[in-house]
Amino acid sequence: MKSVPDVATLILATAIGAVGCIASTTADRVVMRKAHTAKFRIQTARQAMVKPFPSKTHIGNHVLHPETLMLNYGYDPQLSEGAVKPPVFLTSTFVFKTAEDGQDFFDFVSGRREPPEGMGAGLVYSRFNHPNSEIVEDRLSVYERAEKCALFSSGMAAIATTILAFVRPGDVVLHSQPLYGGTETLFAKTLAGLSIGAVGFADGIDEAAVGLAAEDAMGKGRVAMIFIETPANPTNGLVDIAMVRRVAEMIGHAQGHTPIVACDNTLLGPVFQRPIEHGADLSLYSLTKYIGGHSDLIAGAALGSKALMKDVKALRGAIGTQLDPHSCWMISRSLETLSIRMEKADRNARLVADYLRDHAKVAKVHYLAHLEEASPAGRLFARQCTGSGSTFSFDIVGGQAAAFKFLNALQIFKLAVSLGGTESLASLPASMTHSGVPADIRQKIGVLDSTIRLSIGIEHPSDLIADIAQALNDA
Ligand code: PLP
Repeated sequence: MKSVPDVATLILATAIGAVGCIASTTADRVVMRKAHTAKFRIQTARQAMVKPFPSKTHIGNHVLHPETLMLNYGYDPQLSEGAVKPPVFLTSTFVFKTAEDGQDFFDFVSGRREPPEGMGAGLVYSRFNHPNSEIVEDRLSVYERAEKCALFSSGMAAIATTILAFVRPGDVVLHSQPLYGGTETLFAKTLAGLSIGAVGFADGIDEAAVGLAAEDAMGKGRVAMIFIETPANPTNGLVDIAMVRRVAEMIGHAQGHTPIVACDNTLLGPVFQRPIEHGADLSLYSLTKYIGGHSDLIAGAALGSKALMKDVKALRGAIGTQLDPHSCWMISRSLETLSIRMEKADRNARLVADYLRDHAKVAKVHYLAHLEEASPAGRLFARQCTGSGSTFSFDIVGGQAAAFKFLNALQIFKLAVSLGGTESLASLPASMTHSGVPADIRQKIGVLDSTIRLSIGIEHPSDLIADIAQALNDA
């Protein structure tokens, strides 16, 4: 196969450009064939996998913002019967025009060969790739400013697949604490059962303390990954990503293999935090939360360089942890409102957190915008994040009994786990999401029996405060 587009391809490309059709994803490729077959009879099997034109990211020198790109990037209505929204491609498999195409597409999707410059990889089978996942993967990549993205059937599928892509039996993962309860359990049970060790550090700002944990981890095996969650769920504890990068380099020097730095960015990103810009290799998500944003789907994502994502995608294809077309379509819809939802929830959370701080029945509020500006955590917050998000926790006076009374008295907040939806939720991590974490570790990382987690939604803030006020009265 030629490594540059042939003449007919260039004619096709020019013609498509002349009628203003800019296709960027596989979705566009699929419909492009249909829309243009009649008009451009020069189209051949080879041209059917012509790499589409890049989507519009600039007007002249003006760079388009993610808020705009989330409505347009990677999809051209002209190429899908004029549909303003991408169709849902409910298909498990894709027809090859020729046997040669089938052979090439399998080579490309399996990573055995790279498609030639100017060519797309082609669609094969929906466990490997499909148009709806490619649209969302392209959009999330531009939002996060990452080279590549892979979608998964859940946040845990994204986390587990990514870890298993890089970590082998006998290896050790160095990780921040607290982590989401499911991730803690993955380390403590599933990965431990595969002889993969885990060493945690509770202070994500103190370089010397993280360095000591790194020494401890290296004593137990090859440190293949540093896994961090920042801010942490549910304490909002911060981890300094740039410092963790330095520790990764130090480990690399000492053991001859630099660990991959993976960051769970579920609570803030990509609107308020982009870990890769601070030194992480991979940014991981439960898309179930803010990005899905309506508590109506389960999904996950991993983002990073093309080279690393090749390994992640290969394992995803091998074990089938991909996301289905319908959920992908729902996420493409959710991405259009991501920034306005997160910004409104962020403003609401500020008002609720300020109210709680001044209440006699509240012992402590764990909220990022309340950090002392001059403190190490406050300075890190200013460097690393552009907003506080809307998930935080507070310790209620009166222990678990008071927490139960408060939760049972809520009228607008729903008593449910999860976070990042349009509706406000309240939960008790020690008895719910983090109940699998041993009590002594919960105590050490600040997940107390009295720690209530709130996920603030987009309701009117005074209604939320009225609800909290009456529930605290009851507690
Ligand atoms: N990471 C964080 C920070 C979470 O809060 C969660 C779920 O609550 C997950 C990962 C797991 O995501 P999922 O439930 O989509 O598998």
